[in-house]
Amino acid sequence: MSIDNLTVSYRQHPALHHISGQFARGALTAVIGPNGSGKSTLLKSIMGLLKPSGGQVHTHTARERIAYLPQLTEIDRSFPLQVRDCVLLGCWSAVGVFGGVSAAMLARADAAIHTVGLEGFEQRAVGSLSSGQFQRVLFARLLMQEAELILLDEPFNAMDSRTTATLLDLIHQWKTEGRTVIAVLHDDAQVRQHFAHTVLLARELVAWGPTPQVLTEPNLQRARALAEAWDDNADICHADEVAA
Ligand code: ADP
Ligand code: MG
Repeated sequence: MSIDNLTVSYRQHPALHHISGQFARGALTAVIGPNGSGKSTLLKSIMGLLKPSGGQVHTHTARERIAYLPQLTEIDRSFPLQVRDCVLLGCWSAVGVFGGVSAAMLARADAAIHTVGLEGFEQRAVGSLSSGQFQRVLFARLLMQEAELILLDEPFNAMDSRTTATLLDLIHQWKTEGRTVIAVLHDDAQVRQHFAHTVLLARELVAWGPTPQVLTEPNLQRARALAEAWDDNADICHADEVAA
């Protein structure tokens, strides 16, 4: 999967600027960078939720084979849904709007709930779960999707260490199954330990490649310096303006 000279702007303010690179297939890639550096924007662009103002994303993957987990803050869980139904929504495209849920699907959903350590919670309302439990539900739903490409935006934010360990195990399992995982993360040590490849963003691309070559002090310093220089009123990019 590749990104070709990608620029994405919100009302003329570029959040991502001329980004190019290749994601390693079947590998774990971390996306890191200061707050506001365009990490979520990159994931949304790969998912096709945002239209680039320049350049392209080539996923070489059918849309229904891409799974996307937004930042928890962007998810509304006030809806009255039970854990099992929420997990079953992961295979919505297979069920179809008028199709029934087969016994096999129910069994798969319960297996997924078991895998994330939530057996016994099948009939709990999702609104009553802790954020760690809810994140486990969302991972169980990803398990149902059988996606080739999995995009995770800060999956471990505000998670307890047990939940993080469980979900990291799942991510490694996805890798052994040949799935491509791209995750926005904050914890450098975690990135070094678990993610072989890293993209370091600061609205522009600072570095992209094997994690040990990206997570160097000069690169991190450069990303911080770029972030300090941001002035949201000043960085209108006329070169990238296109008619919406
Ligand atoms: P990150 O995930 O790295 O913190 P984002 O991709 O969310 O960064 O945002 C990058 C920049 O784009 C930030 O300056 C942010 O304020 C801005 N931005 C993000 N979403 C919107 C939006 N919907 N409208 C306007 N500006 C946005
Ligand atoms: Mg973000």
